[in-house]
Amino acid sequence: MSEEKTPGFATLAIHAGEKVDPATKARVTPIYQTTSYVFDDAEHAARLFALKEFGNIYTRIMNPTQEALEAKIAALEGGTAALAVASGHAAQMLVFHCLMKPGEEFIAARQLYGGSINQFTNAFHAFGWHVVWADADDPDSFRKALSEKTKAIFIESIANPSGQIVDIEVIARVAEEAHVPLIVDNTMATPYLIRPFEHGANIVTYSLTKFMAGHGNSMGGAIVDGGNFDWGADDRYPMLTDPNPSYAGLRLYETFGEITLAIAARVLSLRDLGPAIAPLNAFLILTGMETLPLRMQRHCDNALKVAEWLEQDDRVAWVKYSGLKSSPYYALHQKYCPKGAGSVFTFGLKGGYDAGVKLVNSVKLFSHLANIGDVRSLIIHPASTTHSQLTEEQLIAAGAGPEVIRVSIGLEDPEDLIADLDQAMA
Ligand SMILES: *Cc1c(COP(=O)(O)O)cnc(C)c1O
Repeated sequence: MSEEKTPGFATLAIHAGEKVDPATKARVTPIYQTTSYVFDDAEHAARLFALKEFGNIYTRIMNPTQEALEAKIAALEGGTAALAVASGHAAQMLVFHCLMKPGEEFIAARQLYGGSINQFTNAFHAFGWHVVWADADDPDSFRKALSEKTKAIFIESIANPSGQIVDIEVIARVAEEAHVPLIVDNTMATPYLIRPFEHGANIVTYSLTKFMAGHGNSMGGAIVDGGNFDWGADDRYPMLTDPNPSYAGLRLYETFGEITLAIAARVLSLRDLGPAIAPLNAFLILTGMETLPLRMQRHCDNALKVAEWLEQDDRVAWVKYSGLKSSPYYALHQKYCPKGAGSVFTFGLKGGYDAGVKLVNSVKLFSHLANIGDVRSLIIHPASTTHSQLTEEQLIAAGAGPEVIRVSIGLEDPEDLIADLDQAMA
């Protein structure tokens, strides 16, 4: 009797989700560039439409290239199922669509990607879903923000752009006590560095656009179901528990158990709201993910070298990187992601705003643009770009003061990156 050993992370990154194509024997998952799929007969079609059998109907809802990507993400993350969609923002919209009714609230850490702050403040507000802000450094602020209308808590495992590491377990306890799911945006960490389900998270979301795809060439997002939340404990999640009129009264939680959230996000939210991932993008992200462990380790190793060099340079006022021993997040880095603290961080130049502008204008190897998680090293000066509409006071509150530079360290030789920053600062 042989015991099946669970394959390691690198093996899963390459093989999970990817089968030999049954029609052609192609080894690499093909790009299934089709909108629709032929039914065996009327009975088969009826069973698919009624969710009595899983299968391909129409690419807005599922596609075989997308399916391989979903299986790979679920395996690496340790979730029960995943749904891949058009972007990280689409993933966030679909998750909340499954959980929220107009007039209800969710709590989010203030330390989030700027685009998520916009989405929660503006678009979600227009849907009647109200965000209540808390402080990722103060778990008690989440407890204080709870109300009868709270339906979820949302945090980033490693925050963009500050790179701070969030104490997931402590916030998971607040969520558990309040019986609401904890949603963790794991974009900056990827499952190579942090697997939030092991720390009490219930749902993980991704912008696959960043480190998961890794090459700056495709947009994508994902929702991963932890399968560890009891949606039926009370009547607060009716979309998941109540008879569904668009599926002849089917109750999702009763029928699908630990993959309910992933199913609801697909057959209700994605079906009706529509942000499907393109098969070509699913293919490019699948290819990128095959090298995820190699890339992430190199990203982290390079980021540490660059951060250490910056920290000892006279022209630099401060460096905020959780991998540095001087960081207040160093202990959390050791606890949650000892392999590395990610590759996005900020630093401040003594010369203030003008020095920041000069630096981004003078780099040659770094690309000056608004993205992270590319093989290429990226740089931006938030005060003159993404945050240029804010007052100085607001800039400082957002961690984007006039002297702040954000970098996403890529996979080049670290000596070349250091030399580029050195010449640009000179
Ligand atoms: C980029 C990003 C998002 C949004 O993802 P898109 O793919 O750009 O829609 C969400 N969260 C984090 C942490 C991000 O960096």
